[in-house]
Amino acid sequence: MGFNNFLNNLRRAAEAMEKAVIDDNTNNQNHENNTYNNANIKNTTNNQISKNILEKLVAEDKDFAEAKFRAKVDNMFIQTYTGVMKQDLSKVEHFLSKEMFEKYSKKVENLKSKNQLQIYDELNVSDTNIINIEELEDRFVIKVSLLTKYLDYILTKDTKKYVSGDRDVRVEKRVRITLSKIKNAKSMEEARKCDGCGANMDLNKTGVCEYCGTVFELKNYDWVIDNIED
Ligand SMILES: [Zn+2]
Repeated sequence: MGFNNFLNNLRRAAEAMEKAVIDDNTNNQNHENNTYNNANIKNTTNNQISKNILEKLVAEDKDFAEAKFRAKVDNMFIQTYTGVMKQDLSKVEHFLSKEMFEKYSKKVENLKSKNQLQIYDELNVSDTNIINIEELEDRFVIKVSLLTKYLDYILTKDTKKYVSGDRDVRVEKRVRITLSKIKNAKSMEEARKCDGCGANMDLNKTGVCEYCGTVFELKNYDWVIDNIED
């Protein structure tokens, strides 16, 4: 039960953050939501991708569904940028590689030191495509291309005064995200047992074993982001 609750909490947090972004941008959302949904529905797998690798992946990972996967990547991207805006990466740390977490932490620290807010306003993701699937010895690696659009500007943190950037015209950027999932990934059922000591873990609260301090590592169970080229 504990782990399901943990997942539900994660999901609720993700939904809350997405809603926060949408609430911030009510003016421009209707049209954008259509774009977003259409991108998720259409089957855009690049024909050049080896069907064999995709089939092997599906054989290995029974839960894999392409549309679901693309929606998940969109959500991870939006959550990461929302984390930078809110200067709080605690909700995204679990699915970012160490390097990516450090990259965005530096960005947040830099903003904090200047007493600034980075705003990604009217943030929208569309046209998400899997552009490559690779099978390595111990993992599958998927590269995804996303079309991102947002108003990119900076405000002062306390007085919300304009510092720099463009508040009228959205930038449009192709972002490439590389994700990986280990083969023989443990099932989410197994995540209820601590990797360190085997104790039942209450992942509800922290994702840290209360007996031995082992941290729950998402990469042992699910897709994690290795790289974001933005
Ligand atoms: Zn433990």
